[in-house]
Amino acid sequence: MDSSTPTKTPPLEKLTGVRGMNDVLPADEPLWRRFEEAVAGAMRAYGYRQIRTPIVEHTRLFVRGIGEVTDIVEKEMYSFTDSLNGEQLTLRPENTAGVVRAVIEHNLLYDGPKRLWYAGPMFRHERPQKGRYRQFHQVGAEALGLAGPDADAEVILLCQRLWDELQLPGVRLEINTLGAAHERRAHREALIAYFEAHRDQLDADAQRRLHANPLRILDTKNPAMQALVEAAPKLIDHLGPESLAHFERLQALLKSQNLPFRINPRLVRGLDYYNLTVFEWVADIGGTPLTICGGGRYDPLIEMLGGKPAPACGFAMGVERVLELLRAQGGGGEAAQCDVYVVHHGDETLMAALQAAERLRDAGLDVLLHCGGGSFKSQFKRADGSGAQLAVIVGVDELARGEVSVKPLRSSDGTPAQQQTVAVDQLVDAVLERFAAEH
Ligand code: ATP
Ligand code: MG
Repeated sequence: MDSSTPTKTPPLEKLTGVRGMNDVLPADEPLWRRFEEAVAGAMRAYGYRQIRTPIVEHTRLFVRGIGEVTDIVEKEMYSFTDSLNGEQLTLRPENTAGVVRAVIEHNLLYDGPKRLWYAGPMFRHERPQKGRYRQFHQVGAEALGLAGPDADAEVILLCQRLWDELQLPGVRLEINTLGAAHERRAHREALIAYFEAHRDQLDADAQRRLHANPLRILDTKNPAMQALVEAAPKLIDHLGPESLAHFERLQALLKSQNLPFRINPRLVRGLDYYNLTVFEWVADIGGTPLTICGGGRYDPLIEMLGGKPAPACGFAMGVERVLELLRAQGGGGEAAQCDVYVVHHGDETLMAALQAAERLRDAGLDVLLHCGGGSFKSQFKRADGSGAQLAVIVGVDELARGEVSVKPLRSSDGTPAQQQTVAVDQLVDAVLERFAAEH
């Protein structure tokens, strides 16, 4: 090509986020913050300590820890080969396996049980829809090294306390028991016999799972199979006295705390490593019931991942789903960006304005200093929009007299309060006094 010919730049392709992976915009921040603070408070109230594990783990951790014949491992994991060393890695689809891996690796159970919690993004390659995303967030708690129904009751009460704190209406508890492995085997034989007798009514997924993991057929979301699944043999009829006693004790403990629940014999949870107690918290989001939190006991997991056998139970909640409920209940609300907005005259007053803002911040106030110049009128518009209670005005003439002004932008009783002029070195006191008077 002749180098003198002007080349036409092709239009830039519009950049967008990855489907099913969402931005949390500042407008949503108050809602997230409220939720996160309530979570941290509830965890503290029960003596749980936070653990943060990496987002990327070896693929085999999840294959071993979640189970090969599960939706997650069969089709939902974001896995890739590390191009540097060929390792098979996966973006965590959940955090229990990672927490247990870390607990084993750092021998955290050496001096007794541990109560741990986590929060963060998880990744599943699902079809995005309301309440179901490819990057979503979970908050979870794990009580490790505790075998009894008291620990099960505790994690359930922790959830209830969080719903209460967030004032979430209509969150319902469903519980079930999965018994022990040998009891599930007996039930499994009965299930296989039952489903084989009704093979013509099974969908492709169920046909495939019939021998690999028939229990998972009970978890089907296919409406055409609901009646069949409803009438299937129940695990509870195969439970021995120990499993039954654990389940009954849990129910008694929940009743003693006036915590209502429903026994749902079809509750099996999507993950393979659960035993005994399973539970879900269900709420109606936009008219449809959706599980916002699921959990239970997973006594075999620590040993399955190479640790010294130790019992454990816990839960994971879907943060976006809880936030959806909070939003529906009007729990959002724009938060003010700052307490004080400083308007000024530009060059001549900038240093004094900067100084005033710094001193106010020293006093613990959140301050926006107007940047970018403009008329006082346009600056006051910004000040109003910021949600600030007060504007501090640094004008040329006043500054020459060693003064600045404090102007209330909103007052609690609706009456416009007076603008006040104060000496520069009295500013912080005057502003703090105004705040004290308002609150
Ligand atoms: P589901 O049956 O809805 O697929 P699950 O059994 O796969 O749920 P868990 O693995 O137990 O869910 O995860 C715990 C919680 O995390 C769920 O109850 C839900 O609130 C939330 N969750 C799971 N997958 C997603 C997702 N793709 N997007 C948003 N939240 C999710
Ligand atoms: Mg799922």
